[in-house]
Amino acid sequence: METLRKNQGLLIVLSGPSGAGKGTVSAHLRERMPEITYSVSATTRPPRRGEKEGVNYFFKTRSEFEQMIANDELLEWAEYVGNYYGTPRRFVEEQLAEGRDVLLEIEVQGARQVRKRFPQGVFIFLIPPSLDELRRRIEQRGTESEEVVLNRLRRAEEELKEMNHYDYVVVNDRVEQASERLRSIIIAEHCRVERLLSGKTVSWGG
Ligand code: 5GP
Repeated sequence: METLRKNQGLLIVLSGPSGAGKGTVSAHLRERMPEITYSVSATTRPPRRGEKEGVNYFFKTRSEFEQMIANDELLEWAEYVGNYYGTPRRFVEEQLAEGRDVLLEIEVQGARQVRKRFPQGVFIFLIPPSLDELRRRIEQRGTESEEVVLNRLRRAEEELKEMNHYDYVVVNDRVEQASERLRSIIIAEHCRVERLLSGKTVSWGG
């Protein structure tokens, strides 16, 4: 009987400019792959209509968030259009150690920090079919003031330049297709030889 090493969970990082459709695509993906654990971020941004504490985000005051930074409770954090966003570290580490795949939906500065701590992560960049489409999607959301929309658009254009720091790029023309591409990437990444050769040992072929 030979042995094959079973990987710990895969850390999947999904970034992309505001309006690329990360939320919609990742919701679709999570329905198709319910075994993936979604990491809920902390933020100082006020909740949008319909957003729930502990489901969409952990909503924090600035001082609570700064305390989390000081306590090293965050795997990464960034300031984005005037608010803090960060990934609670312990939950992610525990899930990965238990062999579960974890999905982080974060912006580019945070993704860079994660890359340093988890070079074995899979970094995926989601882009809209065009800048015009991006503008339309951000405006259509209609939950933010004109100024915030403009800031998000400016930031989105800057973020698009970060694409080359990622392993994969997925165009979000249709949600089902984009989610299917993500699923294919995740399946393929699980088959990588180097992942099978690191981590816990399990028996096979017996
Ligand atoms: P939104 O305010 O639209 O929910 O999120 C704004 C941006 O922050 C999005 O690009 C989103 O992916 C990103 N974001 C959400 N959570 C985190 C996080 O924990 N860390 C970082 N660095 N970015 C995050």
